[in-house]
Amino acid sequence: MAALGAVEKKKLEKPPLEIHYLGDRVLRSPAKRIAKVDNSVRQLAREMLQTMYSSDGIGLAAPQVATNKQLIVIDCDPENPANQPLILINPQIKSYSKELCDAQEGCLSIPGVYLDVTRPQAIEVAFKDENGRPRRLKAKGLLSRAIQHEMDHLSGVLFVDRVRNELALTEELTKHNFSVNAVRPVA
Ligand SMILES: [Zn+2]
Repeated sequence: MAALGAVEKKKLEKPPLEIHYLGDRVLRSPAKRIAKVDNSVRQLAREMLQTMYSSDGIGLAAPQVATNKQLIVIDCDPENPANQPLILINPQIKSYSKELCDAQEGCLSIPGVYLDVTRPQAIEVAFKDENGRPRRLKAKGLLSRAIQHEMDHLSGVLFVDRVRNELALTEELTKHNFSVNAVRPVA
């Protein structure tokens, strides 16, 4: 079993994967469970990390690169070479905190758009790592938010679907040439 190896945190002139944008239907189809964590999954994770670092992101989900798989990558401290990125395969949220918090979010699939989203402050998530080992993680703050945002992508949900301030949503999307009709508000 080949290890993933360290992925260099740098900007590539030509990232290996193409990111898809709001309005593209690949972002709306639910991702499938990964049955076996093999080298092709590790290669996908590596290329997703390279693409994420090249785009100044802190998270990326497989549907954003038109891959229908339950895989997300996260690095909340991309400037710090010592901070290990997280690779979550088939993630499942086991518990949410009762406390909610508001914070601004952005998304590599909706470049330029930043809006406030309300989410549970803390979560516990179960997933498989890049070696296929089951893991559990308690997260709060930015990491909790990043995991919830990326996991939404696996269900075809985008952060703009959760924005409550309709006026700000319309203004911000229009300003960045995205169609408000591409939003599917979450009940
Ligand atoms: Zn996103």
